[in-house]
Amino acid sequence: MIYKNTNAIIGKNYPVVIVGSGPAGISLALKLEEKKIKTLILEAGSDDYSEKSQEFYKSKIFGDEITDLRSSRLRQFGGTSGLWGGWSKPMENYNLSEWGIQHHELDNYSDQTSKILDINNTFKKSNINKYFNQIEFQYSKVRFNEKFRDHISKSNYIDLLMNAQVLKFSGEESVTKKVEFLFHGQRFKISSAFFVLASGGIENSRILLYTKQQNNLLKNNSSIGMYWMTHPWFLGGYGVLKKKKLSEYLGINFIDRDGPLHIASSEILKKEKKIMSGSIYMDAKENKNIVKEIVKDLLCVAPNFGKKVTRSIFKKDLKCGNIFMHLEEAPNKNNRITLDDKIKDGNGIPISNLYYKKSIDTLISAKTILKEFANICRNLDIGRVALQKSIDDLNNYDSLGVYHHIGGTRIGVDLKNSVVDYNLKVHNNKNLYVSGSSVFPTSGYTNPTFTIVQLSLRLGDHISKIL
Ligand SMILES: Cc1cc2nc3c(=O)[nH]c(=O)nc-3n(C[C@H](O)[C@H](O)[C@H](O)COP(=O)(O)OP(=O)(O)OC[C@H]3O[C@@H](n4cnc5c(N)ncnc54)[C@H](O)[C@@H]3O)c2cc1C
Repeated sequence: MIYKNTNAIIGKNYPVVIVGSGPAGISLALKLEEKKIKTLILEAGSDDYSEKSQEFYKSKIFGDEITDLRSSRLRQFGGTSGLWGGWSKPMENYNLSEWGIQHHELDNYSDQTSKILDINNTFKKSNINKYFNQIEFQYSKVRFNEKFRDHISKSNYIDLLMNAQVLKFSGEESVTKKVEFLFHGQRFKISSAFFVLASGGIENSRILLYTKQQNNLLKNNSSIGMYWMTHPWFLGGYGVLKKKKLSEYLGINFIDRDGPLHIASSEILKKEKKIMSGSIYMDAKENKNIVKEIVKDLLCVAPNFGKKVTRSIFKKDLKCGNIFMHLEEAPNKNNRITLDDKIKDGNGIPISNLYYKKSIDTLISAKTILKEFANICRNLDIGRVALQKSIDDLNNYDSLGVYHHIGGTRIGVDLKNSVVDYNLKVHNNKNLYVSGSSVFPTSGYTNPTFTIVQLSLRLGDHISKIL
């Protein structure tokens, strides 16, 4: 049921209370519903987008500029899925292995994740050489509020209350007893056996930090908010990639799809060169002027290849233009979320401060990946790649936007650098859990939501086993 007031909720017995109705929160509720376990989702926003609601996401940024946190997430039913691009794919196994999670533990949920996201559960990977693979994304169009509104309205197991901003948790020693929320200016507390924070990659840390500030519940959890990361996304260079030649080279393994060609670094490249992992994509539609410029340059420096390229353009089998990069970011303790000690949101809760500095590792990794990719393009004669000067000089990259909010409540075993264990349970706490990209200990290069949904489904199974 979807409720717009608290009457039917207060006093009811919910074994699990979930904070947030984005992909993380709704996927968890669906899994628990499958197990016939009742959940209450507390959602701060309402049915629709409102600037007033977004204002509660106001934050201060220190260090390097990032996208305003009021515009890089949505505080409404369905969360940021109302805004996302839908690019979906599981995390690379070699990235996951750094988390201490076996990939089959998440693979078990790929099918259900794909159904939730209305995509095919096929993510091909074709080996180009030891350093690179052609990879496949699926593109989801799912907005969680649109897809699941009706289902939740009719559900006997999922209750959802909108306009309920969770403030903090309270309890005794290591047991969380209550969650406190504000509903139209009034404070309420709800008891439960399990609490799951699924309020996004900044708010998960913010709510835990506020809980820690207000009571003793999380007093030994010193890493909340630390090691915040994103996926640096920028223009790495320009190039031409001959689709037909690549397809001849890869044969039946060539991934023939409309849209951009996606190439990702391999585990060997990451390990041998000691760099971050990354992916690049090239799209013929991006910038036709660049294509003309490149052909002009190529005709000067490599006349034979340039002529071939020109012929191919007229045959329209080239992928030309900008080379975009999406990279893993190195975890850095100093990139962190804290609470502001003066400024508060409209409900009197301290806003978050985000300290963020780009890493030189990103530039080194981008340069290495592009140079190695340029080498195979030349050696296999499948294309040509030119690096952006600022990347070749290891000088800077211009971010195209910071939309993925990762880390802050990382998985691990040590209180010094992690907040939750492998089951996503907060350290030193018996019944408080976190789901979302805030638990990723490292970011990989892959867009996060597919993994977020897998983790939530796995968490649902874990909680249902205990219950
Ligand atoms: C422009 C853009 C493009 C993107 N494209 C992609 C993409 O192509 N592929 C991909 O994988 N990812 C993409 N993402 C990221 C993706 O949107 C997120 O990974 C995903 O939405 C995270 O899900 P979540 O449930 O953890 O958090 P959210 O979706 O942010 O949901 C959190 C929910 O918690 C609620 N909430 C917050 N605070 C409180 C509180 N105090 N009390 C109660 N409720 C609260 C919010 O209102 C919201 O409903 C993109 C993001 C943006 C901004």
